This record gives sequence, C-alpha cells and structure tokens, in this order.
Amino acid sequence: MYPATDGLLVADMKEPSRLAISVVAPCFNEQEVLPEFLRRVGAVLDAAGGTSEVVLVDDGSRDGTWEIMTAAAAADPRVVAVRLMRNHGHQLALTAGLSICRGERILIIDADLQDPPELLPDMMALMDGEDGDEVGGKGGADVVYGQRRRRDGESLFKRVTAAAFYRLIDRLTDVEIPPDAGDFRLVSRKVLDMLLAMPERHRFIRGMVAWIGGRQVPLFYDRHARVAGESKYPLKKMIRFAADAITAFSVVPLMASMTIGWIMALVGFGFFVYSIVGWLLHENLPGWTSIMAAMGLLGGMQFLMLGIIGAYLGRLYDQNKGRPLFMIRDIVGGQK
Ligand code: UDP
Ligand code: MG
Repeated sequence: MYPATDGLLVADMKEPSRLAISVVAPCFNEQEVLPEFLRRVGAVLDAAGGTSEVVLVDDGSRDGTWEIMTAAAAADPRVVAVRLMRNHGHQLALTAGLSICRGERILIIDADLQDPPELLPDMMALMDGEDGDEVGGKGGADVVYGQRRRRDGESLFKRVTAAAFYRLIDRLTDVEIPPDAGDFRLVSRKVLDMLLAMPERHRFIRGMVAWIGGRQVPLFYDRHARVAGESKYPLKKMIRFAADAITAFSVVPLMASMTIGWIMALVGFGFFVYSIVGWLLHENLPGWTSIMAAMGLLGGMQFLMLGIIGAYLGRLYDQNKGRPLFMIRDIVGGQK
C-alpha cells in the first residue's frame, strides 16, 4: 500500500516493489535544465548500480517541461513523470513525488542542478555507516543532508535574506533545523514513511525531517549557480515560505501576544484601582473616575481574555497538525 497522504493519490495503485534508490525532483518551468539534469542523474545512477528510479514532478509548468519529462520516461524506464493539475509550490510538488516513490533510499534534489547529484555516493556511504568514525558513531545515518559551504551565483540579497532566515528559525524554534541546508538530502525509507505520516498542510519539509530525529548527519558541499533558467522563488514566495516555516514550528509569536495580553491586563486593572482610590480620596475631577474605571476594567478584561484564547489556540493548533506523538526507532526483544 502507498503511505497515506492527504494529497494526490493515483487510483488502482498496487503494492509497490521496492527499488534501491529513488531520486525525486520537483520541476517548475525547467525545460532549459531538465535534459542536463537527467543526463547527470542518469550517469550517477548507472555508476551506483542496483535498481533505481527518477521521479520528476511537473508542478504545473507552462513551458516544455512536461514534454521533456514524458519523452524521457519513454526513452528510459527508470524515469517516472508525474504531473500535478496546477502549480502547488515546491514543497507540495516534492511531497507528491515522495508519496509515490518506491526507493529504500530517497534522494531529494532540485532540478536546477544547484545541488550536485554526484554527491549521491558520498551520501550513500554515510548512510551505510562506512564512514562511521567520521560521523562519530556506529551504524549509518537515517538522513544525510547537504549543508552549503558556499553559494555561487546567488545575489547578495538572496544570501543575506537566507542567512537572516536561518538565524531567525534557529531563535524561534525548539527543533534544531540545520542552517544553510535546503531540502537536498538522502533519507531512508523509514524516515520517509514517518515524514509522510505527518499530515500537516503547510509543509516545511526540512523542518519536519529535523523534527523526526534519528541520526542526521551533514555533508558539506559548495552550492553552484543554476545551470540554466532562473529562480522560481521571487521575494513574495520566499516571504510566504518563511512565514510557513515559522508558524509551523514556533508558537513564539502567539506566546508574545499572550505575554503582552497579561501585561496589558495588569496595567488596565492598575488604572481601575488608581481611579477608584482617587475617587475615595476626593482627588478626582467629576466624571473622570467613571470613565477611567470603566476603561481600565474593560481593557484589562479584554486583554486577559485574549491571552486565554491565545493559550487555547496554541494548543488547538498543535493538536490540529495531527502529527504522530512519537516515532519508534527500533524495538528489540519480546516473544516471536
Ligand atoms: N519549484 C517547483 N514549484 C514552484 C517553484 C519551484 O516545483 O512553484 C522547483 C524548481 O523547479 C526547482 C526547485 O523547486 O527544482 C527549487 O526552485 P528554485 O531553484 O527556483 O529555488 P531557489 O534555488 O532559487 O531557492
Ligand atoms: Mg534553485
């Protein structure tokens, strides 16, 4: 059975036979790079040997991307072309590809070749645990994520905003989301199934993978410039992406409103008491007491109630994400 997601599922899917490796790439108007991407990924998979597939997800492209994908699928049985009904954005296109891929290990990569597919063997080795000493432990990694050492061909603006974004995320969230790492990573089937069991609609995939835990190790690399075409992440989409990331992984903004609510409530009640005391001492101008007392009391009550609603909203939000409560890594022992 295919893992349940609340996204697309194609009818009459059969039990998938597993492959050794899946490469999953979302593509949005990538006709310029796609042939080169397929050539380089194909070479990497040839060298790796074993069974493999390349799942390309056309995220509602308006250029020749789909035609290139179907031609590639016809020419090479490893290529699986998937087309979404419309543009859903990088994270959902990627989720669609992940939900149908069949690999025991899954390489998540952008189609624009900013992240070199040639790193696959190194990632595989870290997952095999051959470099066990280097990653400081026994056994292989569950996730090997690419961490950028350098970013070529990206504007100063992009680099500055990206750096600010990763710092902000780090400050606001409890989950340790590695800085300067995109979605470029190799994940095990176990981790992928856990990821697909998280039903939230606003998906910040690199954060969700970090949240899962297990052994996650970095592989440092230099990020290259796009081979062709241009970035599909204009400022507007970047801001939306950052907002999704922060709200999905942090209730700090909500907590701030609760704290301010409590403080303002205290101030309001203080005013109420102050005006009543002034009235008792006959120091107030006529009319002032009733206005100030009512304002302080009402304002204080409102802020207090907002704070309380905020507390419930935060819990409701968390519950509503519907994530599994825990994820078991291994179970040893017990009777057969
Ligand atoms: N992408 C997508 N849907 C979108 C935007 C982008 O599937 O709405 C894909 C795109 O084809 C590429 C990857 O997501 O494979 C990353 O996008 P891009 O390279 O434009 O982002 P950047 O690297 O500039 O952050
Ligand atoms: Mg890119």
